[in-house]
Amino acid sequence: MHAMPAFACTACHSASAHDERVRSAFWQHERLVVVDGVPALVCDGCGERYYDDATSTRLDLMRGSGFPDQRARATLQVPVFSFDDLVPG
Ligand SMILES: [Zn+2]
Repeated sequence: MHAMPAFACTACHSASAHDERVRSAFWQHERLVVVDGVPALVCDGCGERYYDDATSTRLDLMRGSGFPDQRARATLQVPVFSFDDLVPG
């Protein structure tokens, strides 16, 4: 009898995680795209996400397809900040 392989987070060494559908962002040159509903194992300690091989392959295929605009479900507008700007305080 074999136990399930124990989860061990490489970032925080937590031993517990849960399955979750996450939203993930990818840069394609100067274009930022978001993929919703990506199945991931999420660390309960620090929130680090782990994707299995099938998920990684599928994301690679999507990246390879160039994320065509006509397939997008929605468009987001995002604020852009500069690291050089000090926050007034
Ligand atoms: Zn962790």
